Amino acid sequence: MKKWVYGFLEAAQCAPEKRRDLFGGKGTGLVEMVQLGFPVPPGFILTTQVCDHYYQNNRSYPQDMGNQIKEAVAFLENSMAIHKQKKRGFGNPTAPLLVSVRSGARASMPGMMDTILNLGLNDQTVEGLKKYSHNPRFAYDSYRRFIQMYSHVVFGLNLKIFEDILAHYKAVRRVQDDNQLLPEDLQSVIQAYKEAIDKICGFSFPQDVFQQLWGAIGAVFQSWMNPRAIVYRSLYNIPESWGTAITVQAMVFGNKGPQCATGVAFTRNPSTGEKKFFGEYLLNAQGEDVVAGIRTPHPLCVHQKMSTKDLALEEAMPSLYQELVGLKDRLEKHYRDMQDIEFTVEDGVLFLLQTRNGKRTAQASLKLAIDMVEEGLVTPQEALVRFNPFALDQLLHPSLATENDLELIGSGLPASPGTAVGRVFFTAEECMAHAKGGPTILVRYETSPEDIQGISCAKGVLTARGGMTSHAAVVARGMGKTCVVGVDSLHIDLENKTLSLGNKKVKEGQFLTLDGATGNVFYGEGILAKPALESSDFLTFMSWADNTRRMDVRGNADTAHDAQNAFSFGAQGIGLCRTEHMFFDEKRMLVMREMILSSDEGERKKVLSKILPMHQENFQEIFGVLQGRPVAIRLLDPPLHEFLPRTAIEVHQLSKATGLEVSSIQQRLMDLHESNPMLGHRGCRLGITTPEIYDMQVQAIFRAAAIYEKMHRSPVSLEVMIPLIALTGELRFFKDRIFQTVKGIREETGCCLPYKFGAMIELPRAALKADKIAPLVDFLSFGTNDLTQTTFGLSRDDASSFLKIYRKNGIIERDPFISLDQSGVGELIKIACHKAQTTNPSIRLGVCGEHGGDPISIEFFESVGIHYVSCSPYRVTMARLGASQACLRNKTQEHKPQEAPPYRTRCQA
Ligand code: PEP
Ligand code: MG
Repeated sequence: MKKWVYGFLEAAQCAPEKRRDLFGGKGTGLVEMVQLGFPVPPGFILTTQVCDHYYQNNRSYPQDMGNQIKEAVAFLENSMAIHKQKKRGFGNPTAPLLVSVRSGARASMPGMMDTILNLGLNDQTVEGLKKYSHNPRFAYDSYRRFIQMYSHVVFGLNLKIFEDILAHYKAVRRVQDDNQLLPEDLQSVIQAYKEAIDKICGFSFPQDVFQQLWGAIGAVFQSWMNPRAIVYRSLYNIPESWGTAITVQAMVFGNKGPQCATGVAFTRNPSTGEKKFFGEYLLNAQGEDVVAGIRTPHPLCVHQKMSTKDLALEEAMPSLYQELVGLKDRLEKHYRDMQDIEFTVEDGVLFLLQTRNGKRTAQASLKLAIDMVEEGLVTPQEALVRFNPFALDQLLHPSLATENDLELIGSGLPASPGTAVGRVFFTAEECMAHAKGGPTILVRYETSPEDIQGISCAKGVLTARGGMTSHAAVVARGMGKTCVVGVDSLHIDLENKTLSLGNKKVKEGQFLTLDGATGNVFYGEGILAKPALESSDFLTFMSWADNTRRMDVRGNADTAHDAQNAFSFGAQGIGLCRTEHMFFDEKRMLVMREMILSSDEGERKKVLSKILPMHQENFQEIFGVLQGRPVAIRLLDPPLHEFLPRTAIEVHQLSKATGLEVSSIQQRLMDLHESNPMLGHRGCRLGITTPEIYDMQVQAIFRAAAIYEKMHRSPVSLEVMIPLIALTGELRFFKDRIFQTVKGIREETGCCLPYKFGAMIELPRAALKADKIAPLVDFLSFGTNDLTQTTFGLSRDDASSFLKIYRKNGIIERDPFISLDQSGVGELIKIACHKAQTTNPSIRLGVCGEHGGDPISIEFFESVGIHYVSCSPYRVTMARLGASQACLRNKTQEHKPQEAPPYRTRCQA
C-alpha cells in the first residue's frame, strides 16, 4: 500500500534530501524541528504526490488515503499529551481537538495558497472549547473566524458578506474593535453567518468534522491552481508540476487570553542583514493577524523599539523571550542560514509553528553572505550558490539624489529598499492598467494576495497598516519592489480616488516618492541618483563569483555610452554590437533612407560614401572606451524596409528632405515589402544582394581601428560577425571580401589590423552544419533570440500574446524567449558546440541572445561548454553571478567539456 499520509515522526524517517519534494517546505521545517526536539504541536502531512494524483485523476484522491487520514487523526489525538495537554478528540464535544490545514510547496509562496484554522469546531465542540478554555469569548470568536474562513476558502463566498454582518453587530454594540464584542454578540454573529450560508449556498454549514477536513483538503489542493499562485509561480519560475503538500496540525491558541501571543521572527534583520534578532508579535491574537497586517504589531526586541510606548516581547514575557532566543540560535546553526520563524504562546507555553529560510532583500543577502562566511558558518562557494541572482537587481536600485527638495509628508516602516517614484493608484487593476504609461505606486490600506499582479507591475507599494512581516512587506521584498508599510496617518478615499497624508491631498495619477531605506514618503517626483555598487561587501562578493566562474561575461552595447555602462557592471568585453542601431539618430537615418531609395548601384555607392565617415565615428567612439577588451561587431541585420518611413506624414517628410517624389518613395516601399520579413531579405542575405553596404561597414570599422592602432600603438581586439548564416557559401563570400577590404586598408595605413572572423548561429541549419562552418571561422556566437524563433517557427514579435495561454494551460513552463528551451533549442546548441569543436578545436563559442543574461539558461550554457555569454548592460552583474553558480553547480572543474582558449589577437596580414 502506498503511503500518502505521514505523521511528523514518520516523516522524520525519510531521507533529508527527499523531504522537501515530498512534504513541501513548511512540512519539512516542522519535521526537522520535531527531530531537533523543539516544541512543535503534533501533526501529519499529505504529500505532494497526493496533489499530483489529485490533478492527474480528475480531482480525486487515492483510494487508500481515507484510512490513512483516519489513523493519522487518531495518532494526533493521542499525541497531545506529549505537550502536557489533556487528551483531545477530533469532534469530541467535551475536549475538542482543533486543527489547522495549511498548504506548503517546495518553494515558499507566502500567502498565495489557502489556509484554514480552527477546523473541528461545530455547534457542539464550540461548547467544549468554551469549557476547556474557560473563555467563552475566545471560543465563540474562534468559531466565528472558522466559519468565515472556511466559507470563503471552501465555498468561495465573498468575505464582505461576513464583514458586513460583523460590522452590523459592532454598530449595534457601538464598539470599534472585534475584541470588544461580548460572547452573546458573537453567538448572534455565528447565527447570522450560518443563515447567510444557508441562503446563498442552499445547504448548511457542515457540522461533521471529517466532512470539514475533506472540504479543506480539496480547497487547499485547488488553491495550487488559483490565479495568484499561477502568477507567483510564473514570476519565480516555480514549476507547476511540483504541486503542494498539506500540513494538518493540532491548533495551539495565541488568542486565548492575556498570557497568549503570536508572532513572526527572523534570526537576523531581513531588510539589512544585520546580525540582530528581529520580529514582531501581537498579544492575544492568532498568527494570521500578524501576517495579514490587520493590527499593527509590537517589536520583538528592545533594540527594535521606535517609541517608549511600545512593549517588546523581551519586556512583556522575558523568560519566554530568552527561550525563543535559544531556539532561534540553534535553528540558525542547524540550517546555516537566516530563518523566518512563526511562533505562538498559549498560556505561557511557547510553540514553534514554522521555520524556513527567510526572504530577504538583496542588501540583506549580501550582508548575510559576507558575515556568515566570516563567522565560518558557510564557505564562499555556499554563499554564492544560495544567493538569488535575480535579487541582484535590487542592488542596482537607484537612491534619492541629494539635490532633491521634496516635501516629506509622512513616514512608515522601511519594508523593502530602493526608491520608487511613480504615479499613485489605489487598486491593483488601476496599477496594471497604467503600468505602460510610466512607473506607478500602489497605495492600499493593506495588501492582500489578490494584489500580487498590481505589486508586480508597480514601482513601489505604500500601505497604511501592517508591519515588516505583513503580506505587502514580504511580497514586495521578494520582488525587489520598494515598500513602505504601516503609515498610520495615511487615509485613503477610494470613492474620490484621493489619499491624504500629513496636510497633503494626493489625487490618483499624481506623483509620490517612497524611500524604502528610511520609510519616508515625499510629495512629488523625486530625482534619483545612480546606485552605489562600490561597497566593499559587494566587491568582495563579486570577486568570489569572478574567481569561481569559467565563462566570460560580456555586454551587448551599440554605443560608447552603453559599452561604458556594461564595463561598469563588470563586462569583460562587448559580445554584440548591433550596427543597425547606429543609424537610428535623425541625421544618419535620413542618409540611410536616401541610400535605400537609390535607383542603382552607382548612386547607392555615392550615398554610402556619405554614411561612411559617420559610421566610422561610431566605431571610433566605441573603440575609445574598450581599453583592450574585445568587441564583436555584427554587420547589418534587419530588412531594409525597417529603415523606411511607415506613415504618410513620414513619407512626406522624407520627400521634402530628399527632394524625391512621394510616388517614387511609395513605389520603393512596395518593392521592398515582404510577407515574412523575419525570414526574408535580412541578415547576410542583404549583404550578398547589396554587398556595397557591408563593404562600407567594413571600411568604417577598419578605418576606425587603424586610427586607434596608430594612436595607442596597439590594435583593437576586433571581432567581425555575420548574422543569419545558413550556408558555408555565404560565409566564404564574406570571408574573402572582408579580407580583401582589410588588406587594402592595411596597405594604405601600414597598420596590422588583426581581427577575428565569426558567424552567428541563428538558424537550425547552421547549428546542424556547425562542423562545416567551424573551419571557416574563429568563433561562433549563438543568437538565441532568432534561434528560438526559427526552431519553434514562432515569431518573436508576436508570440507573447499566445504564449501566455500556453503557460496557463501548462503546455510550456517558461517563455522560451526569456529562458532557453533547453530540450529543443538547447539540443541544437549542444549539437553545434560538439560538431564545431570536432573540426575546429580552438574555436570560441559565445551566446549573445537575451538568454545570455538569464541565470537558468546560463547554467545550461555552462554544461555545454560555451566560453562566454553576452547580455544587456544591466544584466551583466547577474550573469557574472549566474556563471559562477552554474560552474559551481555543474562542477565543470572536474569534467569541463573544453577549456576556453585564452583570448588572443591574430595578425592576418
Ligand atoms: C539573436 O538573434 O539572438 C541576436 C542576438 O540578434 P538580434 O536579437 O539582434 O536578432
Ligand atoms: Mg538575431
